[in-house]
Amino acid sequence: MSHEFDTKSLGKPRRHKRTATGYLPEVDEQGQEKWPKGDEATWKAGLRGVDSDVPEITKNIVHHVQTTLARQAYNIDDMGAYQATALAVREDLIVNWNETQLTYTKKSPKRAYYLSLEFLMGRTLDNALLNLGMKDKFSEGVNKLGFNMEDVLHSERDAALGNGGLGRLAACYVDSSATCELPVWGYGLRYQYGMFQQLIAPDGSQLEAPDPWLDNSNPWEIPRLDVTVDVRFGGHAEKLEGNRGIWSGGQEVLAIAYDCPIPGSDTKSTNNIRFWSARPRRGFDLQSFNAGNYERAVETSNSAANITNVLYPNDNHYAGKTLRLQQQYFWCAASLSDIMRRFKNTGKDISEFPNLVAIQLNDTHPTLAIPELMRILVDEEDVEWNAAWDIVTRTFSYTNHTVLPEALEKWPVQIFEQLLPRHLQIIYDLNWTFLQAVAKKFPNDVAKMERMSLIEEANGRQIRMANLAVLGSFKVNGVAELHSELVRTTILKDFVDFYGISKFANVTNGITPRRWLDQCNPSLSALITETLGSRAWLKDLYLLKGLLKYEDDVAFHKKWAASKANNKQRLAAYIKSTLGVTVDPRAMFVIQVKRIHEYKRQSLNILGVIHRYLTIKAMTPEERAKVNPRVVLFAGKAAPGYWMAKLIIRLIVNVGKVINSDPDVKGVLTVLFLPDYSVSLAELLIPASDISEHISTAGTEASGTSNMKFCLNGGLLLGTVDGANIEIAEEVGEDNVFFFGHLTPAVEELRYNHRYNPIPVQEKSPALAAVLDNVMSGCYGEASIWEPFINTVRQGDYYLISDDFDSYLNAQAMVDEAYTKDPKEWIKKSINTTARMGKFSSDRAIMTYAEEIWNIEPVKI
Ligand SMILES: *Cc1c(COP(=O)(O)O)cnc(C)c1O
Repeated sequence: MSHEFDTKSLGKPRRHKRTATGYLPEVDEQGQEKWPKGDEATWKAGLRGVDSDVPEITKNIVHHVQTTLARQAYNIDDMGAYQATALAVREDLIVNWNETQLTYTKKSPKRAYYLSLEFLMGRTLDNALLNLGMKDKFSEGVNKLGFNMEDVLHSERDAALGNGGLGRLAACYVDSSATCELPVWGYGLRYQYGMFQQLIAPDGSQLEAPDPWLDNSNPWEIPRLDVTVDVRFGGHAEKLEGNRGIWSGGQEVLAIAYDCPIPGSDTKSTNNIRFWSARPRRGFDLQSFNAGNYERAVETSNSAANITNVLYPNDNHYAGKTLRLQQQYFWCAASLSDIMRRFKNTGKDISEFPNLVAIQLNDTHPTLAIPELMRILVDEEDVEWNAAWDIVTRTFSYTNHTVLPEALEKWPVQIFEQLLPRHLQIIYDLNWTFLQAVAKKFPNDVAKMERMSLIEEANGRQIRMANLAVLGSFKVNGVAELHSELVRTTILKDFVDFYGISKFANVTNGITPRRWLDQCNPSLSALITETLGSRAWLKDLYLLKGLLKYEDDVAFHKKWAASKANNKQRLAAYIKSTLGVTVDPRAMFVIQVKRIHEYKRQSLNILGVIHRYLTIKAMTPEERAKVNPRVVLFAGKAAPGYWMAKLIIRLIVNVGKVINSDPDVKGVLTVLFLPDYSVSLAELLIPASDISEHISTAGTEASGTSNMKFCLNGGLLLGTVDGANIEIAEEVGEDNVFFFGHLTPAVEELRYNHRYNPIPVQEKSPALAAVLDNVMSGCYGEASIWEPFINTVRQGDYYLISDDFDSYLNAQAMVDEAYTKDPKEWIKKSINTTARMGKFSSDRAIMTYAEEIWNIEPVKI
């Protein structure tokens, strides 16, 4: 049963009259702005700036303690101090935010919108204070009130609205767009529950607990209860002449905006991420209510609110859940409606849309924005079909994040029929025209047509979101040189043949040096600033090259090493307080932290650790005394439904238990799995690494960004020739990284051989065979537990563990030699690595998007 609604209002924002941002101030005959309301002086006396001094800061914090939190000096704890401090900082952000948005409205520049289903923000307070240049003053103020800034900062809970690299990239990009003063907004979803919390059970297995991150209220969001959009699901679609359509009936869901200000570094420019939250359009389905079916009525309102309940916890894996498609459409429809409203406020003709709006699709998750913009233009704005398609294809561009087939989104046509009947019609119409053009260009190539079609006919009919994203975009980019090349030559080869190469580009990922060095590594940041004489490097990362002058300077080496030692002690203290384990900060810290995935090969790492363990155990005490002591650290979450990844976690934990309690290797080898990896844990781990591992099977890791974070912090890289590792090596020099393993072109044939001409592991790598036998001997738990994992290596070995194992061990031996033989040379490598990481600032990446894809320019506030 459904009931009819006023169809004209659907998809359109319902707003009350506003007087602040969004509308231009009136201008008199002389071109002077008129004060919009009341007495100008009275208004202006009430406005505040952001350049507070310490007494003003403490006054404001106390004000929030007293009136916002309704607490007193007697009963305020670190959490309360954090909340009051955050509320004070929030005001500064809002002042700058308002000024930025008003400037954009006045100047009406072309804007870019970054549509991302994930924003992995982490904590905000420290970042905001540093970007505002207010950290010292606030620390002093907080001290005066009897609190320690570090404790206050650590009371904040991470905003974990993302899985891993893709979501963190979006967060780095909004930081950089504000810093580079680019008019960019992010659009995302306000999940009630973010990334799950990971617990480790006594048997070593991962357990998942919900992450109710909004429970303590979120000072960093501004609810915009007057900015709402109606979003329709279901109902029926009727076609009229000229490809126009009418969509009616079904269920309406209300999208409500929550804004999150994003301050640039050392600039007033403060951008926005608008997060949508779902609410039932009506509290109750009145017809059901009147029919006496109260429970059914409440059910409707629940199902609508469900849409933004929880983040899907899959990284690089498509799961095909209907609710996920609902999330995607809800978010695309609300965002496009909002973008369209803002465009219309400029008063420009609709044909000008692509001249004022660029929309970036972060992966295929927002691809529905393409047929949705077609629907708005054709059905609501009365634009002719071909003209509408011209607008669409000059507006969108698409970033591909993976070539792994299991990650490519394909939605069953049947789900579309039920949920988005009008969009299905639009997709069919687009496909019809498109396939005719393909047939014209490649006559009689039926196989090509089948591959390029928006609809996959095999396995039930499915809509291929990547194909739709390419069709509707004017530019498609990969995220590192190798990855972009693989996109062009494998999954999108047919589209390159059809459109030509110029539609396909590369923008290598980047990271923000504000969070990933200045904030997370204060001792190194201070040393760099002291050495270079200013903080300018934080906004022009190539300036780090200035450190090269000191690559042989003994005094500088000493300070460099002291900073690393300090970060290792900081991490050791955390490990002691959370796991109760003592690790020696003088040992070499080897770190692999990232989502747990077979392609990322934490498996290779732990098998290598077992080999090291067995080797040390076979030594005499004299030989053991010469071994380079290592602390090997793992962290990362597995998707709750990814059974093999969870088994690998369990193996790591259990191997650690055995090794850490074996007196034979005490002080020489420690292996730990740190639970609940997050942005905040990354900020603690990354500055403490001597070496980090990025060891994906060649050709599988699109870019990686934690490789950049580690190297920026002077940790050396051990990795495969994959993703951005390649470009890091180009920048820092091949002698400063440890590469191993087969190269991408070899992978296909190796996999073929595993299938059709398998060689036993014993023959290929006796060392690996011994390790596998050791696991199956029962010393880490019953063989039957590990057998399914061991079998993936012994048979099929899709990720090429056996092919790369000996090469991996060899690289590890070179790491030991370099670390122990000549400590000066190691420090020199470390300095060189940091100094040559300029390319990997997300400022460079965002400026490339701005100049080469979006065609937008900075706007001074
Ligand atoms: C940077 C980052 C990632 C991405 O790590 P990769 O090693 O590039 O996969 C994942 N999670 C968090 C918390 C991060 O900060």
